[in-house]
Amino acid sequence: MSDKSVEEGMTDDGTLAATFRRVVDKFSGGIVITDVSKSILYVNDATTKITGYSREELLGKTPAIFQSGQTHPDVHAELREAISKGEAWSGEVINARKDGVIYRESKLIAAIRDDSGKVQYYYAIGENPARREQHEQEIAHLLNFDLLTGLPNRDSFLESLAISMEAANQRRHELGILHVDLDEFSKVVTLLGSENADCVLVEAGKRIKEKLRSVDLIARVGRDDFAILLPGLERNAIEFSKEMAEKILETMQVPFECGEKNASLTASVGIACYILGSNNSGYDLLRNAISATMLAKLEGGNTHYIHEASSLAGNSELRELWQAIERGEMCLHYQPQVNLSSGEIIGLEALIRWVHPIRELVYPGTFIPLIENSHHIVIMGEWVLNEACRQMRAWLDAGLPPVKVAINFAARHFRMPKLASTIAEALQAQKLEPQFLEIEITENVMMQRIPESLETLMQLKQLGVRISLDDFGTGFSSMSYLSRFPIDVVKIDQSFVRDITTNPVNAAIAQATIAMSHKLGVTVLAEGVETEEQMQYLRRNDCDEMQGYFFSRPCEVEEITRMLEKGAQMDFRDRFTDEKRDYVLLVDDETSILSSLRRILRREGYNILTAESAMEGFDLLAKFPVQVIVSDQRMPEMNGIEFLSKVKSMHPKTVRMVLSGYSDISAVTDAINKGAVYRFLNKPWNDELLKGEIRGALRYWRELYAKEPEV
Ligand code: C2E
Ligand code: MG
Ligand code: MG
Repeated sequence: MSDKSVEEGMTDDGTLAATFRRVVDKFSGGIVITDVSKSILYVNDATTKITGYSREELLGKTPAIFQSGQTHPDVHAELREAISKGEAWSGEVINARKDGVIYRESKLIAAIRDDSGKVQYYYAIGENPARREQHEQEIAHLLNFDLLTGLPNRDSFLESLAISMEAANQRRHELGILHVDLDEFSKVVTLLGSENADCVLVEAGKRIKEKLRSVDLIARVGRDDFAILLPGLERNAIEFSKEMAEKILETMQVPFECGEKNASLTASVGIACYILGSNNSGYDLLRNAISATMLAKLEGGNTHYIHEASSLAGNSELRELWQAIERGEMCLHYQPQVNLSSGEIIGLEALIRWVHPIRELVYPGTFIPLIENSHHIVIMGEWVLNEACRQMRAWLDAGLPPVKVAINFAARHFRMPKLASTIAEALQAQKLEPQFLEIEITENVMMQRIPESLETLMQLKQLGVRISLDDFGTGFSSMSYLSRFPIDVVKIDQSFVRDITTNPVNAAIAQATIAMSHKLGVTVLAEGVETEEQMQYLRRNDCDEMQGYFFSRPCEVEEITRMLEKGAQMDFRDRFTDEKRDYVLLVDDETSILSSLRRILRREGYNILTAESAMEGFDLLAKFPVQVIVSDQRMPEMNGIEFLSKVKSMHPKTVRMVLSGYSDISAVTDAINKGAVYRFLNKPWNDELLKGEIRGALRYWRELYAKEPEV
């Protein structure tokens, strides 16, 4: 309606007054009119509703009846001053209802004057407090919640965090703070359009919430990132946060369905914990969690990272370790690696040790697991890299020939961007040639995130450093990957070497690894070689290099320097003075039988080896180039056929016979059919026949193998 029509509709004074009256009566805010002496003449319906007083109770009273005593005296003074000057006053007062309930009300108070300017009445118009409350709530909601997801926002999160920190201090609890950032969200926006991408954000928030406990809080703190508060944790904040992070990473991997399209996502999670005694503010904690997320992202995302201050605060052992690194209590020991044909030292593996001021040497197996999930492992790894390079330079400066040094890289370190340039800088700083540095990456690390691993390896290769695949056989590499990765050395894990002379499965794996690596032009090194038998077996099976206690334990620098100075090496020459003669191995658990066999064969000119058990037999087979084996059938640990079947797979170039008084015909035929046994001889034996059989077996061996170069 235009102003004109309003006027037209109210031509009659009476009608106008009545209309005003109706409007005023029904106005949603309170209206009070008093005379000059402040005695109430009129209240509207809203006033009675808001205050709880009836109209009768109010008429004749002064507005002081509404006072709660809580309005600041300055407000009253201001009001009095304005009114006395004849001005209108507006402001907020705190009033009390009849039942004592306090409410806030914004009021406009002014005088109504006659034509001469003399005050006739006062009126007060208030705002409806219920509406105001609703308004306040709406504003609070806008200020504290995110419009899109309906989740609390960053400010609200920080407020709750501060309250939870107070509570944690009182109840001696810990808190976990996670920061979840969606990886490469801009690609999702491009793929789905911004509206659908918004749906993804809402859904992501919901999915995270579903994984949380009812006491946990999730907030949206940025465009595509969320913060989570895990309160009330009892001395397990880090563990619990890690588990939660894993659940969140998992739930993000389920494709998001938006509109017609699907989007696959990953996230990165940073963890910071509030541990009693740490004097971080809530803001610090959130910032730490965010910077941990950044590290997770640097690793390619889809992973979680614990902020180092949190991992230190929660763990006194770790704190001590960290201080040790800072105090320079770490040192490197070096373990020689030798060539299995020349016996020369061809390299050293740098292995970290903590020289604890009170305890003895602390080995990496006890402290690396503490830090491998945090950025500490990278800092430690960089120390190792620089220290190893510094030592290589020192050896060169002392006039020693260059020696290759291998250093171990943990997963987190291997995934750091700019790894190649960090290594290049370390080499450059000591003026070292890259081919003298070898980087050891375990099979498991290499097989995670294959495309990224491959790229990093290519960069390292371009730099010119060597690459070795550590702990080979313990992971799940497919053989085909070996050919795709630019690897120089495969290190057969100690777990295969340990029983290589007795366990046909491990022996077969080692043999296959050697054969395959050689086809690909990769060198094979066996780790953890402790005995002569293991060493000889590996040598005989074409393994190129070895490392282990049999040659040397990891040693301090001084010891290694001495070895390098005097050109220490493994000496194979004395071990087989009789390599030209034939070797016959006799296995029987009865010593009397062994001695009578030895006596019979004495004049035959063989090198006769005797073993009282299958195990002893394996050791001798590993050590000596045996051609013919005569084994008893009935032995306590392992019978003859079983023993010879294993020998067949581990030492196929042997001629194997069973000598037994007992003949289980099916076992015999089985053994012969599978080619494990060449002859089955009976006890008691005829001496001449037995000698003839052994000669025949040797002839047979020569026919088969003697033309080939000896193994
Ligand atoms: P690894 O790289 O497989 O190192 C070989 C481990 O086998 C070393 O243990 C070495 O002392 C031990 N060893 C060598 N020969 C023999 C043997 O004949 N018999 C037995 N029983 N053990 C032998 P260590 O020094 O305790 O290191 C254990 C692991 O800790 C290493 O396994 C490596 O994964 C890790 N490590 C060591 N130094 C570092 C480092 O500087 N950085 C990183 N990231 N990891 C390291
Ligand atoms: Mg290693
Ligand atoms: Mg290893």
